[in-house]
Amino acid sequence: MSDIDIRVTGRAGRITLNRPDALNAATWAMITAVEEALDRWRDDDAVALVVIDAAGDRAFCAGGDIADLYETGRAGDFAYGQRFWADEYRLNNKIFSYPKPVVSFLQGFTMGGGVGLGCHGSHRVVGESSRIAMPECGIGLVPDVGGTLMLALAPGRLGEYLGLTAARMAAADAIYAGFADVFVPQERWPELIAALERDGDVAAVETAATGVAPGALQGLQEQIDACFAGEALGDILTDLRGTDSDFARDTLKAMGRNSPLSMACTVEMLHRLRGPSLSMERALELEYRFTARAMEHGDFLEGIRAAIIDKDRAPKWQYADADVPLTAVAKMLQPLKTQLTLEGKRMARIGFIGLGNMGAPMAQNLAAAGHTVVGFDVAGTTAKGAEMAESAQAAVTGADIVITMLPNGQILRDVAADILPKMAAGATLIDCSTVDVDSARSVAADATARGIGFVDAPVSGGIGGAAGGTLTFMAGGTAKDFATASPLFEIMGQKAVHCGEAGAGQAAKICNNMILGATMIATCEAFALADKLGLDRQKMFDVASTSSGYSWSMNAYCPAPGVGPQSPADNDYTPGFAAELMLKDLGLSQQAAEAVDADTPMGARALELYRQFVEDEDGKGRDFSAMLPRFVARGRG
Ligand code: NAD
Repeated sequence: MSDIDIRVTGRAGRITLNRPDALNAATWAMITAVEEALDRWRDDDAVALVVIDAAGDRAFCAGGDIADLYETGRAGDFAYGQRFWADEYRLNNKIFSYPKPVVSFLQGFTMGGGVGLGCHGSHRVVGESSRIAMPECGIGLVPDVGGTLMLALAPGRLGEYLGLTAARMAAADAIYAGFADVFVPQERWPELIAALERDGDVAAVETAATGVAPGALQGLQEQIDACFAGEALGDILTDLRGTDSDFARDTLKAMGRNSPLSMACTVEMLHRLRGPSLSMERALELEYRFTARAMEHGDFLEGIRAAIIDKDRAPKWQYADADVPLTAVAKMLQPLKTQLTLEGKRMARIGFIGLGNMGAPMAQNLAAAGHTVVGFDVAGTTAKGAEMAESAQAAVTGADIVITMLPNGQILRDVAADILPKMAAGATLIDCSTVDVDSARSVAADATARGIGFVDAPVSGGIGGAAGGTLTFMAGGTAKDFATASPLFEIMGQKAVHCGEAGAGQAAKICNNMILGATMIATCEAFALADKLGLDRQKMFDVASTSSGYSWSMNAYCPAPGVGPQSPADNDYTPGFAAELMLKDLGLSQQAAEAVDADTPMGARALELYRQFVEDEDGKGRDFSAMLPRFVARGRG
């Protein structure tokens, strides 16, 4: 069972967080899945409202899943966290401004990231076990996920109190503070959810609501306002220390656990936000200024270490004496160079199957561009920035785009048969492997039958092009599917040519490589002949590269060491482009030629020569330009 269950039941778009053993902590994948569902249901007339609930008794959602943030941050990769938060905040804003009712059921703990998922909808239902809190200052963050909006709107100085102490609110307190709307006894939740699913009428929530006895916060409001009115954290601490009451002592004790820098920034944020220009966008933007810097300059990594990794509960905060200079606060909250964008659709979720020499750097470039990449390779290889899945099916589940980069057509067919049933209708499969035209067309037909787009998009440019994002794609498929794939081609390459219908990309690739195989052989045998005629190789290059002997094999990839631009010949013929890959491509072109009765004698001869070289001689594992030493060694015999 996956970590999140998304479906449509009756008139309701249904989202169930399903990681009860981890208190339903929200992973990046879960956040992405919720956003995808909301985007899908926005204009779907069959969906009248959205219901979000969670499995288990203990929590709706105890926060964001921060273990990965810690690992990447420790390794100096701050971009990962920034992308995670940007995606999460965009979702929070979407829930807040969703055009249809969003009803959430908040049992047990709803904290931090859980507040972002559960407390921005139109109808927030609490029950007997509800405990809602913004505990971020305890791990060196600030209240985020739009939490500062509710804190700034809470009565009096309650926002400062809740943010700085991380106090847990039971149902009545949560309603009082503006984090929830109605109390419904939990035993009646299943019946209420069933009614919402059946009728799609949100009035059922009000009907089911019952009264609830007042909580503790209301009674504390006067003391809270008296102690939390100060301009800055230092003033608040002074007021609390000067107050002789149990409330003041308990409050100081709670604040003593939290990061002074985070608390000082929280106070400043709430002060800046309160007022007529308060909005969700402003709140998230200000929060992001802090969180984007939190790993590098804040206490976040230390906070996670103490709370979750080492569990010593003894964080070594900056400004441990709680004397936080105003300049430190200003630095954390100054505008960022890269602003948070809350507009638009999220980045794509991409499943990437086959992370070999080519696939791994291609996947890495997609992840670096901000896409969520979930990879899988049978060999267990990985790609930087990509999440790894347990299986190909898991990698493609929920993906908008799936890319395959596999060794051959049979493997592509097998993988496609495995993953297509798991791909959503409307998603697109892009196969970048070099395979036979028949396999490409057969997979295209299977995909089309399932309402899935398909583009065959083999590449040229080799490993260097894959790493540098400068590949050339030759693509086959419908104009619509090519348009869907184009933004990704732009990231992974410098050029993409739409060659025609499905299979046309592979056709272009094998025709191109048939030319390449033949010209490389022609170039190599010409150099070998030149040697025997006593002609200097450099002179031979100077003439041929500027006259009718010109070709890519001669000019850009010269097979003679020390002549022309740098090429695998200068590195003892280490590939580059391996001779056996050229053999495969020539095999594909001959297979295709036979199928359509095309006369290709040069291609056939090139295939035979590479077959001898790879299978009978020492060509396997050498670059395909190592034909030159082969010809030199053989003579005519
Ligand atoms: P590779 O062998 O390094 O990578 C292929 C990957 O696919 C491997 O990591 C393998 O473990 C994985 N794989 C195999 N079966 C799988 C399965 N069932 N499920 C998941 N993963 C599976 O090869 P490469 O050099 O990356 O080439 C990939 C494709 O790109 C080939 O079709 C090749 O012809 C083409 N190509 C390569 C180059 C080049 O210079 N290497 C240039 C252009 C095109």
